Amino acid sequence: MVNVAIDRCTAYSEEDVGAAVERVLAPILADRIQDVRGRRVLLKPNLLAAREPSKGVTTHPVVVGAVIDYLRKYGADVSVGDSPAGALRGVRRVWEKSGMLELCESKGVPLVNFEAGGWVTRSVGDRVYQISRAVEDADYIVNLAKFKTHVLTLLTGAIKNMFGCVPGFRKSALHLACPRPVPMSRALVDIFSLVPPWVSLADAVIAMDGNGPSSGRLRNLGFVAASTDCVALDTVLGEIAGIDPLRVPTTAEAYRRGLGEASLDRIAFPCLRPEEVAAADFEVPGNWKFSLIPGFAGRILSRLVWIRPVINMERCTGCGECCNVCAARAIEMHRKKAVIDRRLCTSCLCCHEACPVGAVQAGMSRLARLIA
Ligand code: SF4
Ligand code: SF4
Repeated sequence: MVNVAIDRCTAYSEEDVGAAVERVLAPILADRIQDVRGRRVLLKPNLLAAREPSKGVTTHPVVVGAVIDYLRKYGADVSVGDSPAGALRGVRRVWEKSGMLELCESKGVPLVNFEAGGWVTRSVGDRVYQISRAVEDADYIVNLAKFKTHVLTLLTGAIKNMFGCVPGFRKSALHLACPRPVPMSRALVDIFSLVPPWVSLADAVIAMDGNGPSSGRLRNLGFVAASTDCVALDTVLGEIAGIDPLRVPTTAEAYRRGLGEASLDRIAFPCLRPEEVAAADFEVPGNWKFSLIPGFAGRILSRLVWIRPVINMERCTGCGECCNVCAARAIEMHRKKAVIDRRLCTSCLCCHEACPVGAVQAGMSRLARLIA
């Protein structure tokens, strides 16, 4: 049996979050917390983009702060780092907006720039990946995921959060090479297998459903959950959302490879059970059924059934974030508005993730809407 500890936390107050983090980590780490004394422990939050904590896009700094405090009590040498999608334009902007800079300065904890320290090359079979050296150098990785939907992978939880261990421009190249859910999930699981976290915690105090991971609907699900098994944690998050966990391609792929547990019968719950925090009416991204059509069928249907980014010109502020993340170089600014070159676009939807004002929508053909 593996353990997944879930407990309620309904507000981002230091007191509430500190108590909830302690309640879920204590049973999960009971027999190993002493191992962190004097060790370099890297906290890996989800810092997807430069958004304020209230937007629900990034792991909340109060959650990160509570985990810092918890680990320091046991003598850990803590640092915090991630590689955001828009890191090429400077990670400091993301640190400032997400509240991570203020948090780490107040606690005297180093914020690590994954882009600056170089990387090491690792492989899974014949697939080659670059992993930030800062991640490789840590003794333990503590994975601090944000629970959200995702237009490409349906849900983003513990497994997908490890994608940020790949430096920014390398992530863009992977998106370009793997624009569809199944190949992308295979790459995400490869990366997770290369840098398995010591423990993972999901911030679902405010989660996101609908068209996540950045333009969805905020949901006050009011809980945090932790496990040493990312597959089990993502399985439980799917269960809470009312989604068959094995429909989530990252969970299914990791389970198939034996990287963790996805059977609820073999998961123990030392705190609350999933049904006690079940999310009513959890909305999945409108496109996800279409996204799971296998590549061959997808190619045949692609003229009739498509999902692609559509710019809402009224909302577009001309900030250029979408150009910055588009590895296909399919977006140009024209009269301070983003314009997509359809011939180059691979429909990876990275621009949808990156747009700070929700101006990139996931547009679907009529038949795709029927399937969804
Ligand atoms: S579409 Fe969004 S990200 Fe792109 S320029 Fe407009 S506002 Fe910025
Ligand atoms: S325009 Fe958007 S969806 Fe198309 S390739 Fe660029 S980032 Fe991906």
